[in-house]
Amino acid sequence: MIDENVCGMDFNQFVLEMEAFHGARAPGIAVGALMLDTALATVGESPDLAIVVETYNCLPDAAQVLTSCTIGNGRLKVYDWGKFALSAYNRASMEGLRTWVIPETVAKWPLINAWFNPAGRSSGPPDFADLAEVFFKARPELIGIREVRIRPPEMAATSKKTGICRNCGESYYLKCGDLCSACQGMAYYTTP
Ligand SMILES: [Zn+2]
Repeated sequence: MIDENVCGMDFNQFVLEMEAFHGARAPGIAVGALMLDTALATVGESPDLAIVVETYNCLPDAAQVLTSCTIGNGRLKVYDWGKFALSAYNRASMEGLRTWVIPETVAKWPLINAWFNPAGRSSGPPDFADLAEVFFKARPELIGIREVRIRPPEMAATSKKTGICRNCGESYYLKCGDLCSACQGMAYYTTP
């Protein structure tokens, strides 16, 4: 058992909620929890809290389990950059903190390295409980943190004006073009 809190939630309770939401005990979500805990200690939870994560791996779910920011409410944005990093900021001030996993520290801790660099490991993935303990031990040197000012276009209100696609007859954002994206050839599906 780990006697710690993350974003005001008991860590063991967090693990249960993460498992319910994400479908597994994911070390990446545990690290994401430490990153969010670090950033939110300064930025604070509020209706103006917004988060940008820089990978689709684990971090979006850490944010959605632990904060009021979700993809659906528009306060969680995901970049597919493959960087284990996130920024939390206040939408009113655009001031916030960016946190990331420091590679030199990952390399120093064999268990963390076995998780972070699966290609280099000789056995199976490390046990979640063992890893979680090591994350808390390594925390002060594992997570980088820096003040950031978010650039204005981020999360800016983009036009949500809709119209009917004259090809398929469905409603879509007019900013996508003359036809909806699917009818422009970008469909991710085929129909029989
Ligand atoms: Zn269409």
